Amino acid sequence: MANNRYEFDGMKMIEEITTNAEQTQEQLLRQILERNAGAEYLSRYLNGETDKHLFKKNVPIVTYEDIKPYIDRIANGETSNVLTAESVIQFYRSSGTSGENPKMIPVTAEIPNLRTIYFGLFTSVMKKHFGDFDKEGKRLEFMFTKPDTETPSGLKARSVSTSLYKEDGFRTIISQHHTSPIEAIFCSDTSQSMYCQLLTGLIKRDEVASVASAFATALLRAIKFLEDHWMELCSNIRSGQLSHWITDSGCRHAVSSTMKPNPQLAESIENICGCKSWEGIIRKLWPKAKFIATIATGVMSQYVETLKFYSGGLPLVSGMYVSSEAFCGINLEPRNEPSKVSYTLLPNMAYFEFLPINKDTPTMSEESIEPVDLVHVKLDQHYALLVTSYAGLYRYKVGDVLKVTGFHNATPQFQFVERQNTILSIDTDKTSEEDLLKAVTEAKTLLEPLGFILRGYTSYADTTSIPGHYVVFWELKPKEGNNDQELDPKTMADCCYRMEESLGYIYRSNRKQNAVAALEIRVVKQGSFDALMDFYVSKGAPMAQYKTPSCINSIEALNILDSNVMAKFFSPQSPML
Ligand code: AMP
Repeated sequence: MANNRYEFDGMKMIEEITTNAEQTQEQLLRQILERNAGAEYLSRYLNGETDKHLFKKNVPIVTYEDIKPYIDRIANGETSNVLTAESVIQFYRSSGTSGENPKMIPVTAEIPNLRTIYFGLFTSVMKKHFGDFDKEGKRLEFMFTKPDTETPSGLKARSVSTSLYKEDGFRTIISQHHTSPIEAIFCSDTSQSMYCQLLTGLIKRDEVASVASAFATALLRAIKFLEDHWMELCSNIRSGQLSHWITDSGCRHAVSSTMKPNPQLAESIENICGCKSWEGIIRKLWPKAKFIATIATGVMSQYVETLKFYSGGLPLVSGMYVSSEAFCGINLEPRNEPSKVSYTLLPNMAYFEFLPINKDTPTMSEESIEPVDLVHVKLDQHYALLVTSYAGLYRYKVGDVLKVTGFHNATPQFQFVERQNTILSIDTDKTSEEDLLKAVTEAKTLLEPLGFILRGYTSYADTTSIPGHYVVFWELKPKEGNNDQELDPKTMADCCYRMEESLGYIYRSNRKQNAVAALEIRVVKQGSFDALMDFYVSKGAPMAQYKTPSCINSIEALNILDSNVMAKFFSPQSPML
């Protein structure tokens, strides 16, 4: 949402590239290969050639782990001629899949240009559907940054969004079109940042033409923060004085300068926030807002119901499909319900290939399946996305599963299906089956000396409260037959903590920043997992091949477990980083 400085005819460009998708993709691949054929990685496979068929035949499909040794070399100072001929100028730090460290995606000079074009195209689509909302008012967009880190050779590593906010000219865009002061966006204390962004958004409530956050979690966190702080915010608005706990000098200065005593405004906000029900609170507080823009597909779809409750009927725009690896797609029908959203992949952003995922023969090895080009995907088929970029990714598996839902001109449109392997996610944390298994395995060692064995476990991400948290169901059986044996609450709390300690860096850092609440273990009665199995079998799962799901997605299945809960335990503190 943040960048609108590209004033080209975006809709015309979208029509052209989606009509000439095949040529656009071919040309882009040729350019990438011609530029980088001499760099070490490609020359290993192509011997200096730039032929597409050779590229497809010889260059392997890779994951991040495969190319990490090359990335480490770049991070350590070999900035050019490793993956790309051009120099790598910084890294995008992705939120990671779930591993210990986030992924580091190389960025070359071309990437910021692509990013500008991408946001320009997105803004054109939004203006086509919602009019020139920047002329009608301001954007209340909750934006947060994380401090840069540096590689051993001094290259900066930052998230895509932080990188965008640090771009030249962003400060001007912010002051012209947003309610949040730049100082609040760059404040590293998320509570102070959130408070100041809400305060300025409330002070300018009659000017706000749209409400936004990159992903749905941040917006819901803002609403929860408002629930906890509205009286204090109103008191500040009434007196024109900023609370003393806002100690960040940038925030204090930026916000205080916009404040003057306004008892009338304070009263109107108090009347709205003081209502018993907060249904429709966004529309009530920001009556001129025309839409809410936030990604609410994929794992974020779990938040749609809550967002709808607060939105008061405002359109929920899930507009972009972006990753650190590439600016992939745009939703050309931003008024569509999140469940109906498809993203049109933009053929000028990266060279895309698609590895068919055959749900009927999941055991078929991926090596025997050939990826297809963008224009050759088939309707209703699921694919894993592969990206070849200007920044040194070649046939790189992003890890997302997409389903073809239609075409815009010659370009396919995709529904975001899932993150391959992620089973739990609340915010930017992504926990795979394997991660959860590892965490459970470590935690249960605490129980073994007490004579319990873990009969089964499963999990789900509970987002009914904000912030959400991981719930892990455990069925425990005393080794010595005594089924009434009491569980020691301290040991069980330690188990929760041990699991959290074992989870990935992003999870732990989200916990520290209170973006994820304490992990909970719910101990269920014996036999609960059998009842769960009966349920799935009754729904058609073959008994012989039944595997307890690592994560529960069915409400009926969840009810079975929840109705059998005997005790609940929570992690007593956030894990070490
Ligand atoms: P990161 O590289 O950390 O920014 O994370 C990018 C990942 O976020 C993508 O690969 C997707 O898994 C997910 N993502 C991005 N956009 C969407 C979207 N519109 N819907 C669902 N998931 C998304």
